[in-house]
Amino acid sequence: MSPVRIDDNQGSCLLYRDLHGQKPETVVEAQGSYLYLDDGRKILDACAGAAVASIGHGDQRVIQAVAAQMTTLSYHHTSRLTNPAAERLGRMLVGHRPGGLSHAIFLSSGSEANESAIKLARQYYVELGEPDRVHIISRNNSYHGNSIGCVSLTGIPSRRRHFEPILMTHMSRVSPCYPYRYKHEEESDEDYAERLGAELEEEILRVGEGKVAAFFAETVGGAAAGNLTPVPGYFKAIRRVCDKYGVLLILDEIMCGMGRTGKMHAWEWEGVVPDIQTIGKGLNGGYQALSAVLIQQSVVDVLARGSGAFANGQTFQCHPAAAAAGIAVLSIFESDSVVATCAKRVEQLRQALIDQLGDHPNVGDIRGRGLFLSIEFVADRKTKATFPKDLPLAAMLDNAIFQRGVSVYSGFGKGTADGVVGDHILFSPPLNISSQEIAELVTAVKAGIEDVFALPV
Ligand code: PLP
Repeated sequence: MSPVRIDDNQGSCLLYRDLHGQKPETVVEAQGSYLYLDDGRKILDACAGAAVASIGHGDQRVIQAVAAQMTTLSYHHTSRLTNPAAERLGRMLVGHRPGGLSHAIFLSSGSEANESAIKLARQYYVELGEPDRVHIISRNNSYHGNSIGCVSLTGIPSRRRHFEPILMTHMSRVSPCYPYRYKHEEESDEDYAERLGAELEEEILRVGEGKVAAFFAETVGGAAAGNLTPVPGYFKAIRRVCDKYGVLLILDEIMCGMGRTGKMHAWEWEGVVPDIQTIGKGLNGGYQALSAVLIQQSVVDVLARGSGAFANGQTFQCHPAAAAAGIAVLSIFESDSVVATCAKRVEQLRQALIDQLGDHPNVGDIRGRGLFLSIEFVADRKTKATFPKDLPLAAMLDNAIFQRGVSVYSGFGKGTADGVVGDHILFSPPLNISSQEIAELVTAVKAGIEDVFALPV
């Protein structure tokens, strides 16, 4: 996650693991669902990096498309120029106007996309003649990226801690939809959804009517708390409140979008459409750095009638090679029926996790949507107590499972000022993972979990 390493002898990449006294492993090759390490080990990539390698690694169709693009046009500046690859990718994403989304902006990372979405919401309201709308509401237990604006949105105390004094003001957070921990026992899904909608309304009124520009949420939560999946009706309740107070709904689908949940966009499950949506990661499967902001015509219209430009230019936006990778990946989605095929694997993975681990005394919840699933661990299933704060359980599980030949994505739990979150591990394998590979994955995960819980305490 952290890209700069200060080595004793020479400059190199500083990784999180160095700071914890662990030697980082080195990956030298990746093909299909597997990573190959310099020491000869073969690791099943059960998280596709960080939900990135949507079609697996090393697909020659993408590599050839990027090489061809690089040969004809490797870069241009976008102050007056566009390029056929970016235009075509835009048409592939929004030419059919999914949910009314009509325009796309291409950037390089999820953080840049979310940062651009914040700015777009602000510029929209300035140009609409409502300049008092300066506030953005997000949720606890959320992750939105690494830049100052995105850390300001993010609801993970450890990601905010060092930067709190320099984070954006005019931002606040409400509860996430986290039924395993926060839905009352006697409460229906519908009542829980309404309660969370009411909490958002209360927060909008606390900030002041006409002051809030946007509500920002991951449609299905990713890394922050392990696949927080909305209960039916949650986003409908949120959309109603947003509409009542003229607040834009911005859905961050950087991690959960692009087929990951079994539909191209995770909001398709919810019966709502965002005003602005961000995508990244699986959009081009990691073959190049690419993200996008998708925008409703109604938002574009306001800027078109006003200043005529979104004040948001970046050097590498609309990069032709990144766009070529995106086109190739989306074409493979189509030709290989990736999303439909993935739907077949979803039940296999979920059922295998339930069958093999559902009764484990420390497995509290298995949740998620599509090939985007998490296991939350608890010290006590009855009370849902988390493990002691100083026990790095998620990291231990991650490590033990890696030693068994499978890479998962782990998240640290514990109680925080924003509430309790359990230790969890997350699965987001390539969408075209095979049935055999899923079986291998679950066997190794079970063994890794048993290794950790067999350790003396
Ligand atoms: N939003 C979500 C939901 C994410 O999961 C991430 C990355 O993990 C980001 C935004 C930030 O994306 P990036 O790391 O590409 O800047």
